[in-house]
Amino acid sequence: MKKKNRLLTAALATTLTFGAFSVQTYAQPTVIAEQQYSVVNALDNKVLNQINVENIYNIIAHLEQTPRVAASPEEYAAVQYIKQQFESYGYEAEVQPFEFFGFTAPHTVELSVDGTSLSPGAFTYTPSGEVTAPLEYVGLGTPAALAGKDLTGKIALIQRGEISFGEKVLNAARSGAEGVIIFNNAAGALNGTLSEANDEYVPAVSISQAEGNQLVSKLNNGEAVEASLTVLGASSGIRTSHNVIASKKATNKNKDNGNVIVLTSHHDSVPGAPGANDNASGTAMVLELARVMKDLPTDTEIRFATFGAEEIGLIGSRHYVNTLPENELNRIVANFNLDMVGSRDAGDLVMRTVDGQANLVTKLAQSTSSRLNGEPTPFARGGSSDHVPFGEKGIPAALFIHSPLEPWYHTPEDTLDKISKEKLQDVAEIVGTAIYDYARFDNQGPKPKKREKVDNLPKQMYFEEDVQ
Ligand SMILES: [Zn+2]
Repeated sequence: MKKKNRLLTAALATTLTFGAFSVQTYAQPTVIAEQQYSVVNALDNKVLNQINVENIYNIIAHLEQTPRVAASPEEYAAVQYIKQQFESYGYEAEVQPFEFFGFTAPHTVELSVDGTSLSPGAFTYTPSGEVTAPLEYVGLGTPAALAGKDLTGKIALIQRGEISFGEKVLNAARSGAEGVIIFNNAAGALNGTLSEANDEYVPAVSISQAEGNQLVSKLNNGEAVEASLTVLGASSGIRTSHNVIASKKATNKNKDNGNVIVLTSHHDSVPGAPGANDNASGTAMVLELARVMKDLPTDTEIRFATFGAEEIGLIGSRHYVNTLPENELNRIVANFNLDMVGSRDAGDLVMRTVDGQANLVTKLAQSTSSRLNGEPTPFARGGSSDHVPFGEKGIPAALFIHSPLEPWYHTPEDTLDKISKEKLQDVAEIVGTAIYDYARFDNQGPKPKKREKVDNLPKQMYFEEDVQ
């Protein structure tokens, strides 16, 4: 993150006014440019004065006590907490349920061969089960390899490669196998998925290439090998997750321009990760900005939404966008999406848009970041978060994130102690003032629909980067 220095900003503006230096990006250093872009204005202060980073930090501290896996009781507890927070600021909050087909990972995965314990991995969509049976090696587990084999009462040992894991398990099961062990064809751990649930599957686990090769040579030597395979707690089926939505309507009905800005985050996490940064940080910031905006006069509706089930494929945000009627979708002029906005160990703030192009969101935020920090926050192309469903509908949308990502991303180490209050403050200020810049009540009457309010920026900063 670029260090903020408002004093420097003011000094730069003064320098430009005197014209002592030529700064290419501020080509016309007029007084107007100075007022517009270089000095925090009084209207910004209506937001800035109210942001309290301790509130954001404390909400992160509450949320990061447990992982919040989509459709888990912990995610639902977070949903209730978020709803209560909105209500404590004076909002009505809607909890929007949605269903998806999901997999619950097993809590126990064990494998022993001739009494020796190995450390297997489980495949996503494996069923639970306990099997003790002789092992039979069936090569790659293709239909050709299994032709004429009866695996009834056996566990199939299969090498990775050529066909999918799901096909291997299905082929073995249809030949009678009661369990499947797939070994890697390269060094390293094997963590695979069977791609989808299937009632014909039998319990399936993975082992390393070295372990697999050892078992193959034993079997090839004609030794009888017996394996015990245990998968417990795995299940597949319909799951329910939830979005939370609160809305601040335009202050004065007569001056309501009919437009909506949606500020979003996701509140779920990956399994095993407390998700302090991913994404308690964005969720806490949505809540704090909702609190800050509550009583500010606006002619635009500001809607606040935290989504469930982002980590397993943007399911909550897709549900939200796809279930909005066309006329409601058309009212949305901008989506600001916050995902991972407070890591001490991540890089600088960047905005990511689906098509890599500037849009109303990047323009508004470049304008306010220029005023606040002396230079515009750059933007680049990028997906993988809840701005995508909005962007795909043609709504100006951007993700706010720090890049590169921190090493703790999606690990049990994504905890409160890695959160930077300075970064939280920076993002909250840029986003809060950008939203207010558009939504604040102005005396020029209602804004024309979809008018992009921000133009003539000093510069548009774009940078190329590998898209994650
Ligand atoms: Zn995230």
